[in-house]
Amino acid sequence: MQDSRRWRCKVFRSFVAWITGHLTVPDDDSDLLKAQFAVFSSQVPLMYSIVLVNSWALAYPFMTTAPVWLAVYVPLGLSLVCAVRLVGWWRMRRTVPTAQYAHQALTRTNKFAFVLSVGLTVWALSLYPYGDAYGQGNIAFFIAITGVGVIICLQQLRSAAFIVAIVINTSFVVYFSLAGIASFVGMATNMALVSIALLLVVAIQFRHFAGAVSARSELEAISRENAKLANLDSLTGLSNRRQFFAHLEAAVSESGDRRVAVGIIDLDGFKPINDLYGHTVGDNLLVEVGQRLAALAGSNVQISRLGGDEFAVTVTDCGTDDAELLAMGERLCTALRDPFVLAEATVQVSGSMGFSVYPHLAADAHELYERADYALYRSKRTNRGHPVLFTQEHVVEIDQSQRIEQVLGSANLAAEMEVVFQPIMDTRFAKVVSFEALARWTSPVLGKVPPDHFIPVAERVGLISELTCVLLNKALASASTWPEDVGLSFNLSTHDISTSDGVATIVGIILSSGVDPCRIDFEITETAMMYDFSQAKASIEIFQLLGCGIALDDFGTGYSSLSQLHALPLTKIKIDRSFVSGLHENPASYKIVKSLLALSSDMGLGCVIEGVETEEELAALKQLGCLLVQGYYYSPPVPAVDAANFLSEAGVVRMTDQQPPRRTLAAVSP
Ligand code: C2E
Ligand code: CA
Ligand code: CA
Repeated sequence: MQDSRRWRCKVFRSFVAWITGHLTVPDDDSDLLKAQFAVFSSQVPLMYSIVLVNSWALAYPFMTTAPVWLAVYVPLGLSLVCAVRLVGWWRMRRTVPTAQYAHQALTRTNKFAFVLSVGLTVWALSLYPYGDAYGQGNIAFFIAITGVGVIICLQQLRSAAFIVAIVINTSFVVYFSLAGIASFVGMATNMALVSIALLLVVAIQFRHFAGAVSARSELEAISRENAKLANLDSLTGLSNRRQFFAHLEAAVSESGDRRVAVGIIDLDGFKPINDLYGHTVGDNLLVEVGQRLAALAGSNVQISRLGGDEFAVTVTDCGTDDAELLAMGERLCTALRDPFVLAEATVQVSGSMGFSVYPHLAADAHELYERADYALYRSKRTNRGHPVLFTQEHVVEIDQSQRIEQVLGSANLAAEMEVVFQPIMDTRFAKVVSFEALARWTSPVLGKVPPDHFIPVAERVGLISELTCVLLNKALASASTWPEDVGLSFNLSTHDISTSDGVATIVGIILSSGVDPCRIDFEITETAMMYDFSQAKASIEIFQLLGCGIALDDFGTGYSSLSQLHALPLTKIKIDRSFVSGLHENPASYKIVKSLLALSSDMGLGCVIEGVETEEELAALKQLGCLLVQGYYYSPPVPAVDAANFLSEAGVVRMTDQQPPRRTLAAVSP
């Protein structure tokens, strides 16, 4: 007996605890609070409409029997209060609340729900003595149905729904079960059961609602995280290509009359580091590069990684001074030249950079990027490790190269291409050691087109291999008429040595020409090597096995790591003419040439100095002990017939006296 009472007490206490736990607005879930606020504000008009219409429908029949203050003034006052609340919520309907704001508003609604339901119930029951049986039934119906309607509207604000249910329904049940009328007692019992069922439904519905809100919040958090990942480069943490373009589009469309600049940076010498030290070192280097660039970026500069070893700099509101922009670019390039001390190795790279500016020379974000990319290409070719700004001259160049591209595509290469020859001289005896073959194109449409213009186009459109074959055949045909001791230097481009098929074709041409491979030097630029170091090395080794020499062309203009040069089976370096012009009066150039000569001698390599134009330059070079030179001082490139004449006039020096020993086919065969 005692046990069952204790058990009943326990159940009652749990029920009361359950009820009271549902009477306050929880403040620990900000997403839920905001969702409750949003749903509730949309249901407020419906709820107040139910209350007002039902109240006036109840008051109307009592206007003749009940005192005026009760049948008219009270519902009027009620209408006024409801209208004020309604306007208040209407104003807030578009508010995106903070969690704190939503909590305050919902707590206020809780309190108001208590006051309103007490007021409504007291008012309706006050009318009871003035009504006949119908009127009293009407009151019971009003309280029950209005209560249910309001509770349904308050479903998502569980606490308010509970308050209304408790106040209205408890009063109803208590009042009508004490009314002493059997029908009302029945209604009260019904109402008690319906109320309990309604509270359970509200509790379950609310749990579902809260669950849906939390699932939606989680989804939103996941999609926010995904969006972040989709916009960031996972290695460096910088914005990625996608974010770069999105930011650029936005910067351009919001620029107004301000200028927007884009700089694209491509590392020089990254690929060999990746090949030599492995991808971990490569990755760590890219991270450090990103950090160095980001450290130098001002507030109006965004740094992105576009992929591989390519980075981008977006400058919003970049001012009107191009010199300032270039100075910023120079700071970035200078920073990249400092050695990178990584855990595994200390490595050195440089960064070439192309800038373009909107709206000065770009109509939209796409063109801005394309033109910066073109400026980068110019930087790589002519100003490695430094920034280049896209200018009107580049627009002309692009037009020109598009025109060349069109015409070259349908050109008869064998008929239109010629090879001219420039002697490489021995300074001691002023005699020819070899000739460098240089391409010349006379197009029936465009006239004479310099190789600087059409070779890059041929490389870009995939015509270079065919062109190389035509030129090599012609050059070898001329070389076969020269004395055996005169060599041939022939330029190869990146693409010629980047596939084993290309190399095999070249080897086939040499073998079928009848010219001894030992007479041939292939000239390859550093850029060609850096493109794919291991493939370049493999190709060079094949030429070397054949007995050909390999000269590193334009030495000093690009990025060269001595360790990499050492890893290649080179026989010569050709020092670029930019170091030669005026070296007799320029101590810096003089010192550079002097040290490059010493370097080549230490490495057992031959050394040709290009672009010697004056007697003074030649004298200075002779003083430095330079043996091989090439340049206008001796002869410009001349047609094949003139080369033959030149030989008979200038005489020939035996190549074997001047060059480092080469392995011949016989020497390498077992
Ligand atoms: P390069 O290999 O560095 O060739 C040397 C360039 O310097 C030649 O220009 C030559 O005419 C020029 N030059 C020689 N001596 C002097 C001098 O004393 N002063 C000055 N200012 N210039 C001098 P060219 O013939 O216009 O060739 C330009 C470039 O085009 C070459 O540079 C080479 O990179 C490329 N090229 C030429 N022919 C071929 C070819 O058959 N195949 C490939 N792949 N590239 C070629
Ligand atoms: Ca050359
Ligand atoms: Ca050269």
